[in-house]
Amino acid sequence: MTLMQDFEKVDDGDAIFLSAKMKVLIGTFVIGPTVIGLLGVIPMIYWGLFSWLDLGLFLGFWAITALGITVGYHRYFTHGSFKTNRPVKIALGVMGSLALEGSINQWVADHRKHHKFSDEVGDPHSPWRFGTSKRAVAKGLMFAHMGWLFSEEQATVDKYAPDIRDDVDIQRIDSWFKPLVFVTIVLPGVIGGLVTWSWIGFLTGLFWGGFVRIAFVHHVTWSINSICHVFGKRPFKSRDLSSNVAWLAIPSFGESWHNAHHADPTCARHGVLKGQIDPSAGLIRTLERLNLAHDVRWPRPERLAKKLVDPQMAPRIRGYRAPEASGDTVRG
Ligand SMILES: [Zn+2]
Ligand SMILES: [Zn+2]
Repeated sequence: MTLMQDFEKVDDGDAIFLSAKMKVLIGTFVIGPTVIGLLGVIPMIYWGLFSWLDLGLFLGFWAITALGITVGYHRYFTHGSFKTNRPVKIALGVMGSLALEGSINQWVADHRKHHKFSDEVGDPHSPWRFGTSKRAVAKGLMFAHMGWLFSEEQATVDKYAPDIRDDVDIQRIDSWFKPLVFVTIVLPGVIGGLVTWSWIGFLTGLFWGGFVRIAFVHHVTWSINSICHVFGKRPFKSRDLSSNVAWLAIPSFGESWHNAHHADPTCARHGVLKGQIDPSAGLIRTLERLNLAHDVRWPRPERLAKKLVDPQMAPRIRGYRAPEASGDTVRG
């Protein structure tokens, strides 16, 4: 594998324009929840402003929005790992939008461009773009985590996501983005306020279920772009430096088995080795059982075994059987 160092070269005609106003807006949503969360978390705990209800709001909105990103934005809209009906498509689009990671259009376009160039020139968020020295990788990790969101090397929707651009339902969801921003921040507060019938309940719900949860989901998603391209294990052959990071598996709902994902991008399950937790695959499996998902691209163990760096690891693949007996797909 070659890692090209010359990341300054932008592929012509394949970048978006970000106005200063847009950069300020992005900055507000990228940095705002993290700053509010960091400043508030210790005082809120010190003053006892963290109830079981707040924990429930944090966990509930975390699950809804993170799964909207992993199952919706990523595995469904970007990679087409399964097919579904219109109501589920709309639900997944709304859930993902509530994560405040931008419109479906732009997210899908950026992520497809990431897979196309993956740690080479053109990758919108490779941590290797500044080189391989410790200093360069430290800078690259910051860029891959957050800095790239302000870069004009992001993908153009027309080139990378014309199917998404032309989908009337998706465009309708994207047109709801502003109200959805309001909903995702304020709704946990409204629930907290109504359940406790107090302004304190509103404020703590807003803080834990709104800002802290948004910051948490942001950093977990961004860690896939930064940490999961630098640290961790690489059991599968892929033409980049994507890696599997076990400790991020639960926070990321299975997305941190990122090396397996780059080796087989359309596969609906990323945790393909035995013992690898992948709750997003679990949700897709549940949708399939309820007849709400079909044509699911479950892992094909025989195919995956051929992609292993060490063929001796084949028995570690879920559902793997000796070559003469295999060929079946593995259910999620
Ligand atoms: Zn990646
Ligand atoms: Zn992907």
